[in-house]
Amino acid sequence: MVDLNKLVRENVIKLTPYSSARDEYKGKSGILMDANENPYGNLNRYPDPYQRELKASVSKIKGIEEDKIFLGNGSDEIIDLCFRIFCNPGVDKALIFTPTYGMYEVSASINDVEIVKIHLNSNFQIDLEKAENCFSDKNIKLIFICSPNNPTANSMCYSDVEYIISKFNGIVIVDEAYIDFNEKPSFIKLVNKYSNLIIMQTFSKAFGMAAVRIGMAFSDPAIVRYLNKLKPPYNISTINQRAVLGKLTRNEQYKLQVIRIKKERERLSAILSKMNIVEKVYPSDANFLLVKVKNATYIYNELVNRNIITRNRSSVVENCLRITIGKKSENEKLIRALKSISI
Ligand code: PMP
Repeated sequence: MVDLNKLVRENVIKLTPYSSARDEYKGKSGILMDANENPYGNLNRYPDPYQRELKASVSKIKGIEEDKIFLGNGSDEIIDLCFRIFCNPGVDKALIFTPTYGMYEVSASINDVEIVKIHLNSNFQIDLEKAENCFSDKNIKLIFICSPNNPTANSMCYSDVEYIISKFNGIVIVDEAYIDFNEKPSFIKLVNKYSNLIIMQTFSKAFGMAAVRIGMAFSDPAIVRYLNKLKPPYNISTINQRAVLGKLTRNEQYKLQVIRIKKERERLSAILSKMNIVEKVYPSDANFLLVKVKNATYIYNELVNRNIITRNRSSVVENCLRITIGKKSENEKLIRALKSISI
C-alpha cells in the first residue's frame, strides 16, 4: 500500500478547492438562482461538475464503480492533473519508457518536472531491471506506461506491468488509449487490487469522439478525489457530456467500427509487408501501424504530395512512419500511392 499523504504535494493536501454553486445543490428542479446564469435558453445552465449521468453509463460499460471514475477534458487534462497532484515543480520526476506518447514529456516540462527515460528493448518491451533500478530514487513520483504503446503499437507484457505497479512506491499511470483495438486484456481490473494505479482510457479513439475531448481515469477513490479537487469546476461541457451519452446508447455502432478497423489493420499490414519500399511492418494492437521503410522522410513527403498525411516518426524509431488505419477506400488510396513511389 502506498501512503498517499506522502505522495501528494503538501499544498494540494492543504488546498481548499473552489466550491461551485452546483457542488452545493445537486437537484435538477427548483428555481435556480444560485449560479448567476441567464434564466432563458437551453444551454444556459452550467454543466454537472461531476458528470454523474455520464459516469453511471461509463460505470456499466466498464464494469467499475462510479467513485473510481474521473472524466477529464481529454486524457491530456488527466496527465497534467497527475503532475500537479504528485510532483513538486523543480524537485520531483517522472519515469517514461521511450519511444512513447509525447505528451507525458511536454506536460512534465510545463510543470517543471524532470523526465527520466528508459529506452524500450529491441522488442519494444520494458527493461524490468533498468526500471527497478529507478525505484530507489525517491523523487520519481510517477511512472507512465503506455499499452498499447504509441508509436510502437504493441502492448506491454502483463506480468511486467503488474510487477512495476506492485513494487513501485509511487503512482503508476497506464495509458490505455488504444485498448479497444487490443485482443489482450486491459489492466483495468488491477485498480481493485492496487491503490497506486491510474488507468487512462479515452473516447477519442475507438469511440470515434476525438472532437468532444473526454478522457477517462479509473483509480482508487482516494486518487479520484484528488483529481476532482484540482480540476477546473466545469471541465466538461454539457454538449460534450450529452454527445458521449448519445454515443454510448448506440454501443453496437462503435463495436462494429472497431471490428472493421481491426480487419483493415490486418489486411493493410499484409499488403504493406510485401512492398519493396517497406522493410518491416510491426505487429499492432492499436488502430495504427508502425512501418519501417527505406527512406521515411522521402516517402512521407511523397505521400504529402499525393495528399496523404501520415506521421513521420523517424526521429524516434529509425525510418518509421506511423500510419493510422483509415476507411477501406482510404487505405486503398494509400496502397496505390505507395506503389507509385520509387526509391
Ligand atoms: N494517450 C495516447 C497514447 C495517445 O496516443 C493519445 C492521442 N494521440 C492520447 C492519449 C490523447 O487522448 P485524448 O484525446 O483523450 O487527450
